[in-house]
Amino acid sequence: MEIALLSLSSCLGCQMVFLSLEEYLYELIGENKVVYAPFLMDRREWDHADLALVEGTVRNTEHFLRAREVREKADRVVALGTCASFGGVQGLADLYPESRLLRSRFGDTAFEGGPQGVKRLLPLDSFIRVDAYLPGCPPPVALMERFLRAAVAGDRLSREGSTVCAECGVTSPPLPQPGPRRLTDGAGEPGKCLLESGFVCLGPLTRDGCGALCPTEMGVPCRGCRGPAGRVLERAGVDMEAETVRRLSRATGKKEGEIRAEVADPPRTYYLFCLAEPLLRRRRSGGTSHYIHRLGEQ
Ligand code: SF4
Ligand code: SF4
Ligand code: SF4
Repeated sequence: MEIALLSLSSCLGCQMVFLSLEEYLYELIGENKVVYAPFLMDRREWDHADLALVEGTVRNTEHFLRAREVREKADRVVALGTCASFGGVQGLADLYPESRLLRSRFGDTAFEGGPQGVKRLLPLDSFIRVDAYLPGCPPPVALMERFLRAAVAGDRLSREGSTVCAECGVTSPPLPQPGPRRLTDGAGEPGKCLLESGFVCLGPLTRDGCGALCPTEMGVPCRGCRGPAGRVLERAGVDMEAETVRRLSRATGKKEGEIRAEVADPPRTYYLFCLAEPLLRRRRSGGTSHYIHRLGEQ
């Protein structure tokens, strides 16, 4: 199988995971042919790949042309990482107008003849057809290995169906609990659900696959880096913010309005990795749309 691996606007973190595959990396490149991977090999031209893994987002016209070229040359295109799948942390750029972002980074420098920026950050599948998704910021090594084994075997590459909570294995604390709590208020009780302990944990709304790494191994809440679970994307009534506030209200015994008032910076709290996801933006109630450019309009 011919494999291409490339990035658009990204931090290269997802490709670093590819390099961390250790023994499986040797097996993969021994049994298949890597035809294009600028960070691995000095080869500028490629004609075809059976599988292309694309990391990052489309931020300008050059990225768009690169994405379109991949679509033309590759039989199957995979959105690698949460940036490519849902916009990732880069989606937070949509809180501000593009002009303000450019000014804050480059001052009054005028760029002539370079690529034009895209007005709004969106996931890769808003620009080209994507066949499969491997979200994660970055995706865990074991998950990437499983995914690649299935891909080179020609298996169907479907989105995972459950949530981080299904992998978590904690128990409920007695309610009500104090909250909403921040990590600076002290750690939760080991083995107890962090959301029911009053922390903003996005586990119930985040797709499975990481083994609930943050709550179980580090004792910190899930921030949603694997992106929204299928039910969040597919069901019109499910909203990250509204659902988490409702659960926190139940855990703490406080009114939902009080919870909303006490949680600072809702876009970065509830939509840190998915503010750019169009399916979430289109929700009539809640959703992310009311945050877009909010700060820029002040
Ligand atoms: S998903 Fe995370 S690790 Fe991957 S490119 Fe985006 S920011 Fe980097
Ligand atoms: S700690 Fe978070 S991920 Fe674990 S069960 Fe509770 S809400 Fe779900
Ligand atoms: S627990 Fe949540 S934030 Fe942590 S790795 Fe898993 S999906 Fe990402």
